[in-house]
Amino acid sequence: MTTTVLKLAKVQDMQLKDKAVLMRVDYNVPIKEGVIKDDTRMRETLRTLKLLLDNNCKVVLMAHMGRPKGKVDPKYTLAPVAPALEKLAGVKVHFAPDCVGPEAEKVVKAAKNGEIVLLENLRYHPEEEKNDEAFAKQLAAHGEFFVQEAFGAVHRAHASTSAVTKFLPGAIGLLVQKELEYLDKAMSNPARPFVAIIGGAKVSDKLPVLYSLIEKVDTLIIGGGMAYTFLAAQNTNIGKSLLEADKVEEAKQIILKAFKNNVELLLPADHIVVKEINPEAAKEVTQSMAIGDEWIGVDIGPRTELLFADKVKAAKTVFWNGPVGIFEMPPFSSGSVALANAMAEATRAGATTILGGGDTLSVLKTAKVPGERMSHCSTGGGASLEFVEGKALPGLVALSK
Ligand code: AMP
Repeated sequence: MTTTVLKLAKVQDMQLKDKAVLMRVDYNVPIKEGVIKDDTRMRETLRTLKLLLDNNCKVVLMAHMGRPKGKVDPKYTLAPVAPALEKLAGVKVHFAPDCVGPEAEKVVKAAKNGEIVLLENLRYHPEEEKNDEAFAKQLAAHGEFFVQEAFGAVHRAHASTSAVTKFLPGAIGLLVQKELEYLDKAMSNPARPFVAIIGGAKVSDKLPVLYSLIEKVDTLIIGGGMAYTFLAAQNTNIGKSLLEADKVEEAKQIILKAFKNNVELLLPADHIVVKEINPEAAKEVTQSMAIGDEWIGVDIGPRTELLFADKVKAAKTVFWNGPVGIFEMPPFSSGSVALANAMAEATRAGATTILGGGDTLSVLKTAKVPGERMSHCSTGGGASLEFVEGKALPGLVALSK
């Protein structure tokens, strides 16, 4: 069953007064030397937290941080998140130094209704990623009701997203509802023209989403490193640009499918090229979509920028995942920045603009375009791609049972 047709209970429809609520959140925020660099994911959960706290619930939060591979590793502690959350939520936040076991139980027990407990990184235990039932049962013992509010984790079948639902009744939180609403509307009933921009480095990661989008969109824009495999599929010279040689055939199939479906497929028409990937390298603009033998394409060129931006500005629905250049290096960020600005203009003109993926969100920062200027910035890059692919998201399937 795809996620769009699942019947899911909603947190606001539940009787949760005075209950202990176990909530899965995605607080996998960037932290440097103990300081949270971007708290968007935390702020996005505040509406559901407020709803629960207004109902005098005790809220026990489960989250993961990075990839500690099933072992305790202080590098991946959630400890700095607790005081930051206390400031944001305006209530006491207790931090439990483990997510299960006597220490966690003690902290949960000591917390009062109207307060929050943040459990330490779930992924310190290998059982989390194994969707282990005994571990999920221990987690479930912290509450009487489960709320799924971690959109960034619902595409994984883990103990805190899947097995836990066997032991507690559950519902989706307000953030997950918002994510599903925007993505579902775009995929099932988009205002047209519907334009999708898919960028980034790896064709192989994005093939399923391209196959899915080609059935839905009016215009498919392919940019970034992956565009070169598509250009190679059309026998265009790409010099030393990124190429996934074993994906050229599939790129040809996508081009053919676009033609059959009457989908406009746009590839970069010119490029910023360098001889080595280095922000100091001398850069040139190509005359056409072909690239000389010694050169590497690192961003879309100025003509392509205008072409892509015009398409975005004329659209009524836009979905964007993946930068169209090596935007982390300022000299090669121009194309991605231009697209971020075009998206903001499209929003202002009444289009629904949806953006997903960590890199794409970082492009907004580089472009100094606030997230509020998009209709929706998805907090889950992987989950939003899998939704668009038409896959059922395991964390939601489990909750629907
Ligand atoms: P992905 O994780 O597949 O979405 O790829 C994101 C990465 O793609 C970013 O780190 C970009 O630097 C990279 N990228 C974008 N354009 C290019 C390009 N022309 N060549 C190589 N890498 C690129």
